[in-house]
Amino acid sequence: MRRISGWALGVLLCICVTTETAWAQTWVIERATVVASPDAAPLADAVVVVRDGRIASVGSGSEVEVPGDARRIDAAGRVLVAGFWNSHVHFLLPGLTEVAEAPAPVLELEVRSLLSRWGFTSVFDLGGLPGNARRLRARIEAGELRGPRILTVDAPFYPADGTPHYVRDVMKQHGAPSAEVATPEQARGRARAQLEEGADGAKLFIGALVGGPQGVVHMTPAVAGAVAETAHAVGRPVFAHPSTTQGLEIALQAGVDVLAHSTPIDGPWPEDMAERLVAADVALVPSLKLFEVELRKESLPPPVIERFLGIGQQQLRAFREAGGQVLFGTDVGYITDSDPHREYALMAGAGMDWRAILTSLTTEPARRFGHAARSGRIAPGMDADLVLLGHDPATDVLALADVVWVMRAGQIQYEAAE
Ligand SMILES: [Zn+2]
Repeated sequence: MRRISGWALGVLLCICVTTETAWAQTWVIERATVVASPDAAPLADAVVVVRDGRIASVGSGSEVEVPGDARRIDAAGRVLVAGFWNSHVHFLLPGLTEVAEAPAPVLELEVRSLLSRWGFTSVFDLGGLPGNARRLRARIEAGELRGPRILTVDAPFYPADGTPHYVRDVMKQHGAPSAEVATPEQARGRARAQLEEGADGAKLFIGALVGGPQGVVHMTPAVAGAVAETAHAVGRPVFAHPSTTQGLEIALQAGVDVLAHSTPIDGPWPEDMAERLVAADVALVPSLKLFEVELRKESLPPPVIERFLGIGQQQLRAFREAGGQVLFGTDVGYITDSDPHREYALMAGAGMDWRAILTSLTTEPARRFGHAARSGRIAPGMDADLVLLGHDPATDVLALADVVWVMRAGQIQYEAAE
């Protein structure tokens, strides 16, 4: 995909050599407007002290004592928010599929342009080549390269004869074993094995897009339920790719936790669907831009694409009105375009203001995935996962994509060129 010149590699190697000490560094971020959580009043001219990868203190300039040995960052005119979660990513693009062999600087560049550069300090990988995301996570956590906290479902579960048409090439190219499961016993066995190996959840293709005249192949409720039961027994979430209203029914029956997409392809939801999903405590990743990207590939006329997006937005709106939990996610790493501007605009178009979108990026995913004690807010004791925005999201939601600087666990992940 993207080729790296010898020069860029040299620069990266230099950066890597200096990152070793950065973890233990004390930082002071000064003069920022701090939005400590989505429901907090902005704190102007604030100071945040970061020590040993955690937030040590937050307050106004006059209150906070600045340690003498700290590295200082002048954030005047900028807005500081907690690090973002992207709850629907993949590592399926060239450059990220052979994680064991790839040089760390090359991986770092890929991960940065895909995720860190947009403020994502935590991500949930919703399916890929077996073991690949776990290997990437291990290399990041070992300090070989900088990158986000990675949670992963490892290999997804497809129904019998239900491998989606769009993953067949990448699976074949890498000699990946079939991820189809035909029986509840088979599903339970593989789910147990993956969870024991370190998967943080499971992903069900309840409505698998197989292409051709068949269109969608559905997973049986028994197979879906077997995986869900196995994951829930060890306290891990289950994601579903529903595609259709029938897929939503199977997801509800199986006890799925998170919908990886809404279902605009199958038309508007039945009237009580949003309420039923919320009553079952199901969260939703709207992934609206994905539909636009996919439908453009099919060369559909713009008014048709508009109509699909309108239905996706309607579903998101109904879900929120019913009190549902929305998690931000873009399917990036399956789609090549990592820029989240369009997703923010489409979410805003469905009635979400900047605080609601920030919630879907921070506190809600942290809560849903059991990380609320460490992630999602700027407060003493929390992980120093921080995003500095170039302008104020309160006046423009697209400021959430105007990322000038990103820190994860006290280590700088990205800095925009001046
Ligand atoms: Zn996906």
